[in-house]
Amino acid sequence: MNLILLGPPGAGKGTQAKRLAERHGWAQLSTGDMLRAAVAAGTEIGVKAKSIMESGNLVPDDILIAMIGERIDRPDSRAGFILDGFPRTAMQAEALDGMLAKRGRRLDRVIEIGVDEAALVERISGRFACVKCGAGYHERYQRPKTEGRCDSCGGTEFSRRADDNAETVKTRLAAYRAQTAPILPYYREKGLLVRVDGMAELDDVTRQIARQLNGEKGGTAGR
Ligand code: AMP
Repeated sequence: MNLILLGPPGAGKGTQAKRLAERHGWAQLSTGDMLRAAVAAGTEIGVKAKSIMESGNLVPDDILIAMIGERIDRPDSRAGFILDGFPRTAMQAEALDGMLAKRGRRLDRVIEIGVDEAALVERISGRFACVKCGAGYHERYQRPKTEGRCDSCGGTEFSRRADDNAETVKTRLAAYRAQTAPILPYYREKGLLVRVDGMAELDDVTRQIARQLNGEKGGTAGR
């Protein structure tokens, strides 16, 4: 199955995408993770993207479109993929349709994770992750079971994203409202859009997504 998770920063796209990937063996394609890896590796794209990401604005469309085009051609995306953080503009949405059509593939569902904006700054500013395996945590809502030790891999080093601060979050939310939210009607008109309540508890959001996907599996998997 080929899915898009849409929603503002802090909605829980990454967490839910990771769960879907583990459960179904679909590839999680997170453009934010890809860009952060490029920044860490100091590649040409990373150098271009670094200051834009730190400001909370969007990296140019051509860079993202090329990145995703290359990624969906890899073997691990054949069984299905979950786009997490892409598309974020109308141009990216149209480019995605074009690249899937060319490959004889298509989208099965676009899941909007709806959240109350007032909660996002607190959600985002409390986030941190295990340096070794990337498992995500939150100071208030999801602390490691043993303080200072990652539940998944036992790692003891944690980090915060450079753009997870109150000031940058405002710019990221403004970018979502101005450039990403307008693509929701595009998918609604195609009959692909479904909405889940992202203010619910984590496991409940996972269940809501599973319910939306139920009945759509089988014949559509692997395209
Ligand atoms: P994320 O991890 O999805 O919150 O993305 C972190 C940052 O990476 C965003 O604030 C943007 O600067 C950049 N980014 C990620 N995905 C995209 C995209 N599809 N289009 C433009 N910029 C992106």
